[in-house]
Parts: sequence; structure tokens; C-alpha cells
Amino acid sequence: METIFKTIELDHYTEEDLAEAVQIIREGGLVAFPTETVYGLGADALKEEAAKKIYAAKGRPSDNPLIVHICRWEDVSELAAEIPACAKKLADAFWPGPLTMVFPKKEIVPFGTTGGLDTVAIRMPSHPLARDLIRFSGRYLAAPSANASGRPSPTKAEHVRDDLDGRIDMILDGGEVSIGLESTVVDVTGEYPVILRPGYVTLEMMQDVVGKVGVDPAILEENQDLHFIPKAPGMKYRHYAPKGSLTIVEGEEQDVIRTIRKLVQEGINAGKCVGVIATEETKGAYPEGVVCVIGSRASEESVAHGLFGILREFDDLGAELIYSEGFGEEGLGRAIMNRLLKAAGHQVIFAEREVSHDS
Ligand code: AMP
Ligand code: MG
Repeated sequence: METIFKTIELDHYTEEDLAEAVQIIREGGLVAFPTETVYGLGADALKEEAAKKIYAAKGRPSDNPLIVHICRWEDVSELAAEIPACAKKLADAFWPGPLTMVFPKKEIVPFGTTGGLDTVAIRMPSHPLARDLIRFSGRYLAAPSANASGRPSPTKAEHVRDDLDGRIDMILDGGEVSIGLESTVVDVTGEYPVILRPGYVTLEMMQDVVGKVGVDPAILEENQDLHFIPKAPGMKYRHYAPKGSLTIVEGEEQDVIRTIRKLVQEGINAGKCVGVIATEETKGAYPEGVVCVIGSRASEESVAHGLFGILREFDDLGAELIYSEGFGEEGLGRAIMNRLLKAAGHQVIFAEREVSHDS
């Protein structure tokens, strides 16, 4: 199939500019569009056949459920069988925005959209183009990230084209996304909300609104060897993987730098193309290897924003080995490290302390 590529000027577009995309959605086709988190691959969420096309285009395992995107609070009651009080509070605080809530589903939501689950994940995005596509089409949009399954999520329309050209009907190019990490997924079907996937809306932010919030044990780093089955089925897959082998080096900054420099040297000596994921603060400390800056340690937002793009950049550069500095796991750092660890297939090494000889 030929994929239509359409650029939308965000500060002046009209309903007419989205008419073709709307028609494709209504006819059960696939349209990729920007959201504030990452680019999504949208289809009519209530049409089982349309949802199936999403799985086929992405090569996504059919047990990995899709998030349904809405543009009004009232839509939740069309899709969810029960709406607990905490969900309204979380929606008031974080919608429209990067938070997805999992509810018991109503019958109209097909199992083809929910990966066979009797729950449905719902999000109200804040990006104007995403909202207008939902509104003008008069449909709820099932929209997973618009990457080929297993690849880093797309933060630019070019990333979508690289992965899905010829496999989907249309790509709407609305420029680079603002956040760059997927939404936080929280299960509101239990006694208190439980985070199934960390994201831009942090544990601390939700606690401020509803008090007690849990974290699915399967996504905690200390439980990685214990074989918990994640409640968000998507979290069990190795995601976001660059083509090269990524290793995260943790420890004190100077120890990390020294260790990465040594590993880069070893890789180069072995004839490999070696990449380094550095920060604004440390980029000058690596004289060798292909050094890319993910963002600044002074701004977690910049690191989140740079993550997926940098993983794709190393693919383009042909990096065979990649070493990354680690990041703290407070606040937004929890989501950043969750994605980085998945990209690394949990390969982590701890930098050795330098032994002092003068004591
Ligand atoms: P993506 O849209 O590609 O960012 O992935 C959606 C994420 O939401 C995956 O990790 C899914 O497993 C998760 N998800 C979607 N629907 C549900 C649901 N009904 N229950 C639990 N997790 C869900
Ligand atoms: Mg995804």
C-alpha cells in the first residue's frame, strides 16, 4: 500500500486539512498522528477488524492490548463498566495528558482491542492534533506507539516512516513530540490505583492527588530475576531495543566515566563501532567512541525527551556496542530508567571505585 504523508502546521490548520485522515479512520484504516507523549498509530477502537490491522502493521503480539484515546470525560462511561472515585480525581488532575487508566470494560469494546482482557485502557491526550482527529472522526482511537514492535517509540514523523512506510494508510506529521516517553499506565480496578507502567506522571504526583498508590511488582528493578508476570502485558516484551548491544554503567560519576572510557577503548581495539550515551555535563569526558548527548542532568525532561531518538540514532550510526550512564530513579527518573533498562535487556554493570594508593 502507498502511505500518504501529510504535514500539518500546528498553529494554523483546519478541519479540512484532516478530512482525508478522518475518512480513513471511518473506513477502518490506519493513521499515525502525533500525541504529546509519542506518535500513535490510530484506528477505530470499536471495530475489531481495524484493531487487527494495527497488530499486523506493527508486528505486535496479539495479547498486548491497545490504549483507547478519547477527547471528553463523558466518553469514559461509554467504554468503562465502572468508574471509581479515584479515577475522576486522577482525570481532574492529569487529563488531558500523559496518563492512561485501566477500567473494567463494557461490552462494546471488542476483545480484539483489549488483547482478550476484560479491562480497557483509556487516555485523553492533550495534543491538539490528536484531540481533533478523535473529535472530527467521531470515533474512539485505539492507538499504540507507531513503531514496529520491539523498536524504540517514535518521537518524530520520520521515525514512523522508517518503521511503517507502506504498511499503513497515512502519517500526519505534526513535528517533534514534546514529552518523548509513553504515558503512565495505572490500574484503577482495585482498592487503590496501581502503576503498571511508569511514565511522565510520576508516583509522587499521583500520591499527592489520591493518597495511596501501588506499583506493580513486575516493573520494579529489584524483582527482575523473580519472574513476576506484569499486569500490563506490553511490559513483558523486550522493547525499545537498538540494534547494537546496550549496557548501562551505574555508580559515582567519575567511576562511571572511567569505566565507560575503558570499555570504549576495549571495543575499539576489538574493531567494533562503539557508542556512548552521555549527558551535557559529561560529554567532554569521552575522547573516543561515537558520543551522543541524551540531555542534561539538570533537566530530567530533557533526558526523557532525548531517549528514544538517541537509540534510533545509534542504529543509523551502526553502533555495535553502546554504553550509557545510568540515571537516578526518583520522579521521572523511574520512567527513564524503566525504558533504558528494557532497551538494554537489563544489562547493567557497576563501575568500580578507584582504589586510593596513598592511605
Ligand atoms: P503502547 O500503546 O504501545 O504504548 O502500549 C500500551 C501499554 O498499555 C502496554 O504496556 C499494554 O500492555 C498496556 N495496556 C493496555 N491496555 C491494558 C489493559 N487493559 N490492562 C493492562 N495493561 C494495558
Ligand atoms: Mg509501544
